[in-house]
Amino acid sequence: MAVLTAVLSDTQRRTLQAVCDTVVPAVPAADGDSDVMRDYLGRAASDFAISEQIEGLMAQAMPPEQLQGFAELLDGLAQHDFANLPLEVRTQILHDVAASSHEARLGVMALRNLTFLFFYGLVDEQARNPNWEAIRYPGPISAPPSPEEAPKTITVLAVEGDEQTVTADVCVVGSGAGGGVIAAELQKAGKSVLVLEMGGYRNEADFKQLELPGLLELYLGGGLIGSEDGSISIFAGSTLGGGTVVNYMNCLRTPERVRREWAEHGIDGIDQPGYDRHIDAVMQRISATDEATTQNRQHKKMIKALDEVGFAHRAIVRNVDPSCDDPRVCGYCFAGCQKGCKQSTLKTFLQDASDAGAAVVVGCHADRILLADGRATGVEATVTRSDGSQTKLTVDAPTVVVACGSIESPALLLRSGIGGPAVGKHLRLHPASIVTGIYEEPIEAWIGQIQSEVSDHFAGCEGEFGFLIESVGAMPAVHAAGIPWRDGEHHKRELARMFAHHAPFLSVARDHGEGEVVLDPHGQPVVRWSLSDEADRRLLVQANVELAKLHYAIGAPEIRTLHAEELVWYRDSDEPFEEFVTRIEQAPYGPAEITIFTAHQMGSCRMGRDPADSVADGRGALHDVEGVWIGDASAFPTAPGVNPMVSIMSLAHRTAGEIILSRSS
Ligand SMILES: Cc1cc2nc3c(=O)[nH]c(=O)nc-3n(C[C@H](O)[C@H](O)[C@H](O)COP(=O)(O)OP(=O)(O)OC[C@H]3O[C@@H](n4cnc5c(N)ncnc54)[C@H](O)[C@@H]3O)c2cc1C
Repeated sequence: MAVLTAVLSDTQRRTLQAVCDTVVPAVPAADGDSDVMRDYLGRAASDFAISEQIEGLMAQAMPPEQLQGFAELLDGLAQHDFANLPLEVRTQILHDVAASSHEARLGVMALRNLTFLFFYGLVDEQARNPNWEAIRYPGPISAPPSPEEAPKTITVLAVEGDEQTVTADVCVVGSGAGGGVIAAELQKAGKSVLVLEMGGYRNEADFKQLELPGLLELYLGGGLIGSEDGSISIFAGSTLGGGTVVNYMNCLRTPERVRREWAEHGIDGIDQPGYDRHIDAVMQRISATDEATTQNRQHKKMIKALDEVGFAHRAIVRNVDPSCDDPRVCGYCFAGCQKGCKQSTLKTFLQDASDAGAAVVVGCHADRILLADGRATGVEATVTRSDGSQTKLTVDAPTVVVACGSIESPALLLRSGIGGPAVGKHLRLHPASIVTGIYEEPIEAWIGQIQSEVSDHFAGCEGEFGFLIESVGAMPAVHAAGIPWRDGEHHKRELARMFAHHAPFLSVARDHGEGEVVLDPHGQPVVRWSLSDEADRRLLVQANVELAKLHYAIGAPEIRTLHAEELVWYRDSDEPFEEFVTRIEQAPYGPAEITIFTAHQMGSCRMGRDPADSVADGRGALHDVEGVWIGDASAFPTAPGVNPMVSIMSLAHRTAGEIILSRSS
């Protein structure tokens, strides 16, 4: 997987190995443990050379300041002669160091989660990991089709040499939900479109149903990024097709009340029936249907619980080709759909764009937008090939569409010095939280459609704000990171006991507060977000309580939140459930105290009337520079409160029309 490049001293390297072997140590089995359990307990992180993998990742992807932080953490541990201490002492030291400062806590957590990522994610030539048997995870259940069976059909422009210049009418930066739609609509309208995509071109033939390569190859920052203070983990797609390739296909129309709110922000007509044509066009092209929606075990549990307490719910509409939809493999679609039934932009709008004559450049990072006399003249980008060689690409284009997702779009504008004072502000994240029930019967939450039911019972529980109730699938390393780490043996045993039996219930909140994207000294985005807004905090606490009550209503023997300090209730304990609810209400919800995550980033280059408070006007065009348009979720004036793909695509569909109408395009 990661190639080892030395960035640590020998002592730091030895200490890192000892940290990994403390997080996942080899420990003796007890009487009564099965042979499978004995082997699992007997494996340490060093049996998988995990510290080398982590050092490889550090060398490849970590900015110098972050690397320096880890080096200091390891130096501090080395002062205790950490590598030569017994396991129990090392375990206690890791707890003490994590308690010593917020930075140390984040550092220890990051090393712990990376160790889990490799221990449960690395595979051999047969795509197997020996630890899966003990946690009863089958791993991939089918091989990808061959490249001949699943050919790549989107036209990719080959870029060669040290420098190259290409000309187009429109340069679309980012190929996800928004970028794909705009590329198709403009190319079909007769413009020549060039799409720049930072990720690679991967399709069914590359989708291995594996967590580790899935995250590293298809997600922004390898799925390992979060807000600066560790308050929230960030998941976004980064591959040709963007988030639409890895997402859960939940197609929800923009709610009427949100359309009214966005009209007040200056998106004229979005609250009128005429706007429905944009939503309808998108829903039709991505084949949104509930025809193929089926329920797996965790969703059946959720439905039973919602019925039990009397909350309305409905099957979701998914963007799927029902003729090839195969629920057996849908649980792996966080790493791409091997069957090709997911109607991502790869299968729809990007393909349309390509068929009409557009081209894409992959592995292509847009560095900045080029300007002359207050208007766009193109994009300067860097293309990086798999051998590490690079080309400086200049795209001469009078129209530039910024659609890099809500973390990277503001970064591109900030690097270019355009967009005005609101660039990066008003970031919305739909903070999400999980409460799991551990059931006696196997749930095997990796089987079946990854998302298939939704309840909006609490969508308006705080006035215009609230949360949706949904469910998700399961991945071993991500799940391992959510189990409180007391010591290495306890963690292994808990994962083995729970993984196949847990049903995750999910809350997705409409955020009232907001975060911000700023640039680090290297021009890369830094996300500032914390649970500082009182309404958002109340929603998160209430969501944890309500999800726990759902598990309780259907008799879950054990209920767990994702707090770092274990927060669990056992039905066979003496504790009344009401006391557990009180413990949830009184628990800490600060950075690194509970796992909160976002798969929906929005609003950081928002549309609006006021240039002081928004980046683009009501058409999607930048207030301060001609020829630059915002085409992705970052254009949202506020959070929609529903899974956003359809809202992004339909707003992009409208923006494409505005670009065609504009005199300057
Ligand atoms: C795991 C997961 C599950 C989800 N499930 C659902 C769901 O069920 N329903 C739903 O509605 N939504 C879902 N979403 C959210 C949805 O997929 C995203 O909100 C949506 O894809 C965002 O669209 P976008 O156009 O803003 O950006 P993206 O789709 O993220 O596309 C941005 C693209 O720009 C590229 N890029 C970034 N920077 C640069 C640069 N400088 N140069 C060139 N290229 C760049 C990125 O690599 C990326 O491919 C999910 C998201 C995730 C991660």
